[in-house]
Amino acid sequence: MDTKNLFLKKIAKYPDLLIYKDCYFKDFNTFHVNNLIEIMLIPKSIHIIRQLILDLKTFELAFVIIGNGSKILFKDFYVHKIVILLNYNFSNILLEENEIYAYSGAKLAQIIHYGLKHQFGLMEELIGIPACLGGAIYKNAGAHNKAISEWIISVDYIDEFGNFKTLTKEECQFSYRYSIFQKKKKWVILGARLQIQKTDIKQAKEKIQKILLYRMHHQPRNHHNCGSVFKNPPTIKAYQLIEQCQFKGYRIGDAMISEQHANFILNLNQAKSSDICHLIQKIQQKVYEKFQIHLELELEII
Ligand SMILES: Cc1cc2nc3c(=O)[nH]c(=O)nc-3n(C[C@H](O)[C@H](O)[C@H](O)COP(=O)(O)OP(=O)(O)OC[C@H]3O[C@@H](n4cnc5c(N)ncnc54)[C@H](O)[C@@H]3O)c2cc1C
Repeated sequence: MDTKNLFLKKIAKYPDLLIYKDCYFKDFNTFHVNNLIEIMLIPKSIHIIRQLILDLKTFELAFVIIGNGSKILFKDFYVHKIVILLNYNFSNILLEENEIYAYSGAKLAQIIHYGLKHQFGLMEELIGIPACLGGAIYKNAGAHNKAISEWIISVDYIDEFGNFKTLTKEECQFSYRYSIFQKKKKWVILGARLQIQKTDIKQAKEKIQKILLYRMHHQPRNHHNCGSVFKNPPTIKAYQLIEQCQFKGYRIGDAMISEQHANFILNLNQAKSSDICHLIQKIQQKVYEKFQIHLELELEII
C-alpha cells in the first residue's frame, strides 16, 4: 500500500471529518477553475485539524489549506497535494467582553453582520471581499485604505508540530497583502480575536451599502474571477500598467483580461489553469519590457 493509502486508512474512521477522493474543485474556488483534487478533507473540529497535521507530518505528505478559494490557483489539473478545506464547517463567531472571537472559516461578511447585530462595528471597509477569516489574515486582505490587520488583536494557529500557539498582531508581521503565515506554509490559522467598537448601526449600514455599490460599479461581476491578480507596485496601480500595454480584452483560451478592470482576469466559461498562467506570464513580460517593473502576483499559484 502506498503512503497516501496508508494515510487514508488511518484517517478513515476519524469523527468530525469528511473525506473526498478525486473531487472537482470548480465549486471551491471563485475562479471556477475545474481542477481535480486527489484527496480533499473537511475537518469540523480543532482536535481533528491537529490530528491531521500530525498524521500528514508522519506520512510526509504535502498539504494546502483552502478557505473560500478566492485567491488561489492550482497550476496542474490533477492536484496531488492533500487539500484541507476550512470554511463553513469551521466558522463559529463568539462575542466576548470587548472583542469578537471568530474561527478561521467564518466569512468576513458574516463577522461584520454578527458585529452589527450586537451593536458593534468592525471591518465595514472590507465588505464585499469574499474571504474566510483565515485567508484574509494570510493575505492581510484590505480595501478602502484599511486592511484586516487593523482589527486583529491576536491570531491562534497550529504549528507544524501540532502545537497550539498564539501570535499578537505585531508578531503577525502584517504589511501590504502580507503576513508571517506566507513564510510558514505549514501553520494552520484557527481563529482570531478581533477589535470591536460601539457604533451607530444606521451609519454603519449606509457605509456598507455605499461600499457594495462602489464594488458593483468598479469591478466585473458577470464572470468568475479572483479579484486583483497582481499587487500594486509602490508608485502606480497595476491596472494602469496593464491598461497601457493595451491588454484589456486580451484572451488566451477562456481566460480574458477584463475590459472593465485590467487587473482582473475573467473565466469566460471553461478557462484552464494553464490559460490563466499563460496570460499572467504574458502580462508580466510585456509590463517589464515597457516599464521595467516586475508585477508581483497577489494570486497564490500552487
Ligand atoms: C470579486 C473579488 C473581490 C476581491 N476583492 C478583494 C479586495 O478588495 N481586497 C483584497 O485584499 N482581496 C480581495 N479579493 C481576494 C480575496 O478575497 C482575498 O485575498 C482573501 O483574503 C482570500 O481569502 P480566502 O478565504 O478566499 O483564501 P483562499 O483563496 O482559500 O486562500 C488564500 C491563501 O490563504 C491560505 N489560507 C487560507 N486559509 C488559511 C488558514 N486557515 N490557515 C493558513 N492558511 C490559510 C491558503 O493556503 C492560500 O495560500 C477579492 C476576490 C474576489 C473574487
